[in-house]
Amino acid sequence: MDFGLTSDQKAMLEHVRALLDDVCPLEYATKCDETKTPPFEAFQALAANGWLGLIAPEEYGGAGGTPTDLALLLEEAGYHFEELGLWLFRNFTYGCYAILKHGNNEQKASIVPRTVRGEASFAFGLTEPDSGSDAAALKTRAVEDGDSFVINGRKVFTSGMDISDYVLLPVRTADMGKKQLGISTFLVDTKLPGIEVRKIPTLGQHAIGTTEVTYTNVRVPRSALLGELHQGWAICEDTLRYERLCLSAARIGAARQAFEYALEYAKTRHQFGKPIGSFQVTQHKFADMKVMLDTSQALIRRYAWLMENDQPHRADTAVLKYYVAESYKSISDMCLQILGGYGYCMEYPMQRFFRDSRLATIGGGTSEIQKNIIAGTLGL
Ligand SMILES: Cc1cc2nc3c(=O)[nH]c(=O)nc-3n(C[C@H](O)[C@H](O)[C@H](O)COP(=O)(O)OP(=O)(O)OC[C@H]3O[C@@H](n4cnc5c(N)ncnc54)[C@H](O)[C@@H]3O)c2cc1C
Repeated sequence: MDFGLTSDQKAMLEHVRALLDDVCPLEYATKCDETKTPPFEAFQALAANGWLGLIAPEEYGGAGGTPTDLALLLEEAGYHFEELGLWLFRNFTYGCYAILKHGNNEQKASIVPRTVRGEASFAFGLTEPDSGSDAAALKTRAVEDGDSFVINGRKVFTSGMDISDYVLLPVRTADMGKKQLGISTFLVDTKLPGIEVRKIPTLGQHAIGTTEVTYTNVRVPRSALLGELHQGWAICEDTLRYERLCLSAARIGAARQAFEYALEYAKTRHQFGKPIGSFQVTQHKFADMKVMLDTSQALIRRYAWLMENDQPHRADTAVLKYYVAESYKSISDMCLQILGGYGYCMEYPMQRFFRDSRLATIGGGTSEIQKNIIAGTLGL
């Protein structure tokens, strides 16, 4: 495994950094968060420069990039604004990866080029009121009716549904004993009649955020089925593996920006006649954060390498998700402490990192569940 970047990867980073420094500076991210507005301009700028097609094959208008390329891009997007990174992650995971891996030729040809051009956005509606960590216990149901399916049920925490064109929706299509059996995944047009979306107010993630979605007699054509009927749980599991690469990359980027902001502050804020960065207790906080950042970056590069060379084990995914999420949460907490009272003020950006990072150990599978998975592989 080689930790060096190729000349193409270096060029990509240079280009994306310069573009996002221009269209997505800190003040822009702050404004999107304060006004609860998605970062449309930054998203469109990335689309116009071809970056939304990074992992799609050339025949669909993409660049055929690798998981490592994607991790680098998403870290940079997350560095500039976590919610921009998460928006991209949903499109790459559900609008490219899931369709390319599990879709038929018609779905690939009709949807992926639009994702690549930034004309279609995606959400994922797995979680329900009674099935969170126990996700396969989902109850939303699709019943076959001629050449279509009729969906009824309720999903919670479908992030970005209100700015999405499609939602990847796992639903129950049969009762086959084991809860993982009889689930099918549909690519549902979010504007269909019978879909009602309610924004859920949350602690962080204010620019895009999350929603509750009710499906009442929503009729979808058979062509909306992704993969085989009743075989959708395997698609969910596979997609979640990819999701965790993307989520973790965006969050490492956000953690890095919080770290750099606090570092600059510690060099310039004086108390007792000295910069606060000269106190050993502050220096040790930065040392701890640097170790967490470096380890997170090493873990993501290893995970991307595993994806490129073989299929990562479930425990590899859990280790990455758990470590990066807990590190981001700790880093944003330490950075807030370093800013003292200003860290707690809404007029300074650090509170946003603190609020946004709190989701990391919950969304996409809680830390407790990741630890269950890791421990489950140790033969205890
Ligand atoms: C802002 C936000 C955005 C989200 N976005 C999406 C999205 O886009 N799509 C989507 O499908 N979902 C999304 N989620 C849902 C998220 O993945 C779930 O919230 C998460 O999986 C936990 O489910 P839950 O909230 O129902 O908690 P529960 O499963 O009820 O868990 C509650 C607590 O019990 C613990 N617990 C549960 N079971 C066990 C166990 N076996 N062992 C030990 N501890 C356990 C948990 O770790 C947690 O601390 C989002 C959530 C939030 C808050």
